[in-house]
Amino acid sequence: MFELYAAWGQGCVACSTPVETRRPGLEGRLCLACRQQLPTALTELRRLPPWIAAGWSAGGYSGLLGGLVRAAKYGGQEGVLAEVGAFLAEQAAHYDWPQDFDAIAPVPGTVARRLARGFDPVMVLARHLPGAVGAPLDCAISRRGGAPQAGQSHAGRLANVRGAYTAKKRVSGHWLLVDDVLTTGATASACALALREAGAESVCLLVLASSSASVQTL
Ligand SMILES: [Zn+2]
Repeated sequence: MFELYAAWGQGCVACSTPVETRRPGLEGRLCLACRQQLPTALTELRRLPPWIAAGWSAGGYSGLLGGLVRAAKYGGQEGVLAEVGAFLAEQAAHYDWPQDFDAIAPVPGTVARRLARGFDPVMVLARHLPGAVGAPLDCAISRRGGAPQAGQSHAGRLANVRGAYTAKKRVSGHWLLVDDVLTTGATASACALALREAGAESVCLLVLASSSASVQTL
């Protein structure tokens, strides 16, 4: 269903059905049926570890947004991710956030993956968030090597992320951590912990697509 068509404008990017109207942004890349599957608001994540103050997801991992982001990541389609990122920013701009944020931290990918793809998916998604949320992007988290999370078992993911993320500097204030997909939540949990340990007063989480409403604690 989510086979991605490389040529923009040829059809729906999710299902290839001809797009009958030209709308701006992601909506203009989707057919009517797929457009109607776009979520209309952020959903609050539940059962977060105590070091994540609150969390939100724009859509489900198995839904339209999850499918688009997976296809774009693994198909190397930076343009699709950019449209999805603009959609995420639009959702964020209209959301009634419970607090102001001082900085937005993208979850870092591995250098090897970034070099292979030519872009960092989370950075592409997060690019428009500063204007929407009113806080600057700050790549304050670094990742020490390690295997990519995709394809790992649940236990493997947990072991993989323990100690894999560290803050590059001392930080302060209220942070919004951003990731593309949330499955076990182990990565988000480890990154939030790294920010808290580096001095962040609070860390909230925003993901594009989540497989469940809960985040696994480490
Ligand atoms: Zn479609």
